[in-house]
Amino acid sequence: MASDADWLRNPVKVAIVGAGIAGSFLGCLLEKKGISPDVYEKGHHDTVCGFRSCGWGAPSTIGAYLADTGLDLDDYLLESMKSMEFDGLVARTPLCTLDKPGLIRDLRSRLKIIQRQFTNHGGEEYDVVVDATGISRAILPPCTSDLTLPTLQHRVFIEPVTGGTPGPGVYGSHVPGLGYIWVFPLGRRQYHIGAGGLVFDRYAEILDQFLNDLSRDHGLTRHCTCPGKIRVACPFYSQPMVATRMRENGELQRIIGVGESIGTVSPFTGEGIIYSMECAKILADSWLNEDLYVSRILSRFAWMRKERETLDYLLSAGRDTGPRLRDRWRFYRNARRSGVQLPLWEAFRRMGSLTRWIEG
Ligand SMILES: Cc1cc2nc3c(=O)[nH]c(=O)nc-3n(C[C@H](O)[C@H](O)[C@H](O)COP(=O)(O)OP(=O)(O)OC[C@H]3O[C@@H](n4cnc5c(N)ncnc54)[C@H](O)[C@@H]3O)c2cc1C
Repeated sequence: MASDADWLRNPVKVAIVGAGIAGSFLGCLLEKKGISPDVYEKGHHDTVCGFRSCGWGAPSTIGAYLADTGLDLDDYLLESMKSMEFDGLVARTPLCTLDKPGLIRDLRSRLKIIQRQFTNHGGEEYDVVVDATGISRAILPPCTSDLTLPTLQHRVFIEPVTGGTPGPGVYGSHVPGLGYIWVFPLGRRQYHIGAGGLVFDRYAEILDQFLNDLSRDHGLTRHCTCPGKIRVACPFYSQPMVATRMRENGELQRIIGVGESIGTVSPFTGEGIIYSMECAKILADSWLNEDLYVSRILSRFAWMRKERETLDYLLSAGRDTGPRLRDRWRFYRNARRSGVQLPLWEAFRRMGSLTRWIEG
């Protein structure tokens, strides 16, 4: 069996399974370190854009990660969402929409992509297999306590009939319980309008109603519709993040998770693009030191565990109170972390509106 010293001396054969944002970004970071992974991508997403369903919203600080691979955010920027409506309140945000498919295509173009599904039964030749398979978590064992939520998203063209076109917005009051509708402009009159949340899953009805209301003042054409799922389990409950498997030749194969496969997604908002890139960077920086990697992920994303604790609390049977002070505080902290300038009292009040759902 290979010792740790052997791992470092001999070239390590690496497979990255999944060329979404986490896998393709990690691939480019490893290439920079002189490691050339084989990157497997099964493709065949049942979507018009050819990629997994996503709103394509991210904070502009994502530019720093793109710069790490020599890319420029301006080349992918679709629309700024500097001011965004939150159920009637307009707040400043650092958010934008970006051409995520274009970005992933450019990252992939620098990698050796093998266009096929990787299964747990193959890949004997690899010393390290990175599970970057997102929601399917196809290689690692199941999460200790998984939690996923359903979504539905349309891409629509919006023409103004009276007045202007809608601005970016997030509408929690339209979705019962903890969830929201998002309206993300993509430029050239196109928008992602979607809904997601816990407990409730009749998004088609809610979105139809929302689009009907919009169509009073706008000409609307639906371009595509895709259902999806987001892992909001948080990294702590998405363990194990690393595993080993004995190969036929008696040597160990290391399996390491990255991105949404290990839950690097905000449980409150479902934002996973920037956190999956950050996770990939932490993995590249602590390459082949799994203990360091796991401890850095758990510490960097400790706040996700707290948000998950709030979700578990709100979902728990037998609870007889609404959101606690700590839940409201976490909601406020979430907004601040995302750079959303939502006043403290407003964040508290919004989370308080969940009480109606809980008591109902
Ligand atoms: C409707 C919706 C809207 C969202 N909106 C936003 C948003 O606006 N902003 C934001 O930050 N986050 C958003 N998210 C979350 C975000 O999309 C994800 O968290 C992020 O893309 C995760 O990236 P990833 O690379 O880890 O996984 P993925 O993007 O899921 O990539 C995994 C890749 O692995 C491939 N794959 C899977 N299994 C195999 C296999 N066995 N062999 C080979 N390849 C395989 C898949 O084809 C896929 O390409 C949204 C999610 C949904 C569902």
